[in-house]
Amino acid sequence: MIVDYHMHLRRPGRNGVEEIDHTADAAERFVEVAAERGVDEIGFTEHVYYFRQTSGLWAQQYYTERCAYDLDTYVDAVVEAKRRGLPVKLGLEVDYVPGRERELHDVLAPYPWDFLLGSVHDVEGHHIDHDPREGLWKHFPVEEVWRRYFIALRGAARSGLFDVLSHPDLVKLFGRRPAPDVVFLHHEETADAIEAAGGLAIEVSTAGLHKPVGEIYPDRGLLDACRERGVPITTASDAHVPDQVGRDLDQAVDYAREAGYDTVTVFDGRRARQEPLG
Ligand SMILES: [Zn+2]
Ligand SMILES: [Zn+2]
Repeated sequence: MIVDYHMHLRRPGRNGVEEIDHTADAAERFVEVAAERGVDEIGFTEHVYYFRQTSGLWAQQYYTERCAYDLDTYVDAVVEAKRRGLPVKLGLEVDYVPGRERELHDVLAPYPWDFLLGSVHDVEGHHIDHDPREGLWKHFPVEEVWRRYFIALRGAARSGLFDVLSHPDLVKLFGRRPAPDVVFLHHEETADAIEAAGGLAIEVSTAGLHKPVGEIYPDRGLLDACRERGVPITTASDAHVPDQVGRDLDQAVDYAREAGYDTVTVFDGRRARQEPLG
């Protein structure tokens, strides 16, 4: 089985800029591309900060200026796509905000999620993924950016809010890394935290192939550490338009197999099961 469990429900707009389109018809375009590319099931995971129901959680302008859409409309669109018989799952990409776990839980609790992704894009109010000269990179050396990123990611693991950690070593996206022994320790400590969380999966994401680093997330070291501890995986493209659905997933499947994985996680109503990978 091939799943693509991370994508944003949009349509290609003018000038190549995607536009929010939280409708079942928009979902159908993603399903069509998935079918062409041999992907059996897809999961929609819009960013949590696009929804005004979450507005109390955000302080930065990047989030507040996007926080304008209705979470019920989004959920209804994916539920309607399911009702049409399409092989889709209802998810959300949730930024982990340390100290705000209760509010995150309460705002998401009323909805029939199949799975929730936990993401760290931002640490202490500073982005890590916009520009290697800005955000957290402007304030700290590489070792310290990595340290703070992985502390936040382990917090996301321990929070119990999530089913999957998405792009689990996003911090490498600009290709900036500390020394190998420091990287190794982050991988081991993070895999320990994920294992301790119990039932939490990690995402093998091809999005990193299209970033400056040009690599799949996570590093083989982190994936190996997770497999040794029995942590399951999903596979994902992080598509923002239909044409990106399933992009390079064959590479993600080969990569996971090389690390010793032979199953992939499938979610239904936040219950996970393992299916043969590929
Ligand atoms: Zn993300
Ligand atoms: Zn995403």
